[in-house]
Amino acid sequence: MNSRAPTAPTGLAWWRLGGLAPRRKSRSFLWALLVLLVGSSLVLLIWLAGRYESSATQERLEAYTADLATQMRQGMSRNLRSLQAMQPDRAEPWLAHAQELLQKRRELIRLEWLDTELRVQLASDSPYRPPAFEIFQRSLSAADVGLACRAAQRFNAPAYANSYFVPQSDGTGLELMDLCLPLMAAGQLMGYTVATYALNDVLAELLGSLLTRGHAVAFTEADGTRLAMYGSAGSGRQLFAAQQLVDLSGNTLVLRLESRQGTADFFPNLLTALVTAMTLALLVVLLMLVRDMRRRLKVERDLAEALAFRKAMENSLNTGLRARDLDGRITYVNPAFCQMVGVRAEELLQHSASPAPYWPPELANVYQDRQAFRLANKALPRGGHESVFMRSDGTRFPVLIIEAPLINALGKHTGWMSAVLDLSEQKRAEEVSRASQDRLQATARLAMVGEMASLLSHELNQPLAAISSYANGSLNVLRDAQGEMLPSSPEQRRLNSDLDMALRRIAEQAGRAGTVIKSVHDFVRRREQKREAVRPMDLIDAIMPLVGLQARKLGVRVVISAEPGCPDVQCDPTMVEQVLLNLARNGMQAMQPGPAQASDRVLNLRVQRSGKDRVEFSVADVGEGIADEVASQLFTPFFTTKEEGMGLGLSLCRTVVEQHGSILSFKPQLPRGTVFSFTLPAAAPYPYPGTDEADLSQLPAF
Ligand code: ADP
Repeated sequence: MNSRAPTAPTGLAWWRLGGLAPRRKSRSFLWALLVLLVGSSLVLLIWLAGRYESSATQERLEAYTADLATQMRQGMSRNLRSLQAMQPDRAEPWLAHAQELLQKRRELIRLEWLDTELRVQLASDSPYRPPAFEIFQRSLSAADVGLACRAAQRFNAPAYANSYFVPQSDGTGLELMDLCLPLMAAGQLMGYTVATYALNDVLAELLGSLLTRGHAVAFTEADGTRLAMYGSAGSGRQLFAAQQLVDLSGNTLVLRLESRQGTADFFPNLLTALVTAMTLALLVVLLMLVRDMRRRLKVERDLAEALAFRKAMENSLNTGLRARDLDGRITYVNPAFCQMVGVRAEELLQHSASPAPYWPPELANVYQDRQAFRLANKALPRGGHESVFMRSDGTRFPVLIIEAPLINALGKHTGWMSAVLDLSEQKRAEEVSRASQDRLQATARLAMVGEMASLLSHELNQPLAAISSYANGSLNVLRDAQGEMLPSSPEQRRLNSDLDMALRRIAEQAGRAGTVIKSVHDFVRRREQKREAVRPMDLIDAIMPLVGLQARKLGVRVVISAEPGCPDVQCDPTMVEQVLLNLARNGMQAMQPGPAQASDRVLNLRVQRSGKDRVEFSVADVGEGIADEVASQLFTPFFTTKEEGMGLGLSLCRTVVEQHGSILSFKPQLPRGTVFSFTLPAAAPYPYPGTDEADLSQLPAF
């Protein structure tokens, strides 16, 4: 049984089981870390790009604001120059000049000519607006104007006043700022020109044309309070603002530019969008790589399984497998091949191409030429070719080699794969089959002999019956003559008695010969063989006259020993007697007369119990013994070493013994000679299963 009960994991298995889970955990942790890193770097990138974009927008806005401030300054200076050109000599030209200026410069809403006491001499309002000081009295701002004019007088330069809010009749209001210019003539203060700016209009007129969409420009105070504003900052989510101080003599205005834009879009600019897209693409590629890796791992696993399957298959094969490269060097062998040639795989792989370690040295040259020819011509016999290999112990064995070209995955021919079959068994089977053919022929001859024996027995029966009748007749005649005749001399009586005995023996032996012939006839014809209970010693006694005759002739001493109390045996007595006679004759013939004394040539006939229900008969001689080559063919019909022998005796003996449910065995007797023995079933108390053929066939086969 190869199946193993599930056992607790070994130390190594525990280590493996314990190691798998942490490795899987750490792998998923690494993946999470990677995704986190890529995600956070993407967020950081977008944030940085946003920041960069914001600061760039801010910078642009700053520069823009500076531009606007410059523009505004230039506009104010231009206006200043126009105002300085106005000379208050006379009223009409001044008014005309003022109106012209107010028409050209929309940001100026009023021009006034004040005398040195700051009283309004002349005033002109912008034609584009209703007069600004309708609700709000001009006198309410006189203090600011006065301050500015005094400063202007002090420095003999134009001065701006602080701005102030003036409500309008339409419910709105205006943030106004006054500019005071001293009018000097020959070093003498002649009065002041006061120009009033509407800060809203300043923004609209001086900067409006420069302002782009989505921008709002405003004047604020230092604390951020908005004084005037122009434009719209747009609808972006992030408010960008830049401020620029516009220094006017006597007043400093804060110009503030606002724009709402920038981070309204998730991707602030094309670069960020590109980088983000690339990062996302990177992530996608990474995911694809992971999928690919998983697939590859699966393929690898499948491949490993297929490899293990192939390995198990190769290992379980009885056929030897051998792969060689194009130079004839071995690149692979399976265990069956190593077992076949008795060389380890490592040795085979390290060995040079030729001669291979399993080539018989006497055939190495032939094999070398054959290999070279095959490698060069790529000619392979389709059904394979037979060859002879050598095991590591030097024994040769026949093999069948079937070769096929080895083609790699690229379709390139890289070598040869050979399947090697050990033909030893096949050859042995062929040998056995040949031997059985021989045996069949012998059996056929035996059958013929049987026919002859049957014929002979039929033919001999009559002469034997005649001999028996004549002997009995002669015996009767002799006895009658003895009765009628007068008492004779002692010699005559002895002669008569000898004659009587001889005639009785002739009749007896003729009867016996008849029985033997009948038994042989029955045996050959396979008729129903009779079985009867016989005393073992009766069987021996029956053959003793003939055995004794031959023993005397060959100078052999016959010793009979019987175990006391041996039971009767169930057998066909005539056939068993023939077996004993044949064995005894063979034993005596094996002890050829020679220099040895007759006392040394002893034939032992022994009868003894065997097991509970059998009796063993053995015939032991002290002859030359049986040589091995003779022993192997001993029971083969027609095998004989004797000149006049038929070679049928032992074969027939074996058949008879086997029909009695035993086997005829032999073994050497020490110090010399051979013992043949067989057993017969005891007649009682262990009845034999039966006597007919059907019952015999149920006996154990030998
Ligand atoms: P045959 O006696 O006609 O030769 P058998 O079948 O009785 O035929 O015997 C076959 C051969 O077996 C004999 O020729 C002999 O060589 C050998 N043999 C048989 N019995 C003995 C024995 N007891 N000792 C030695 N050889 C024997």
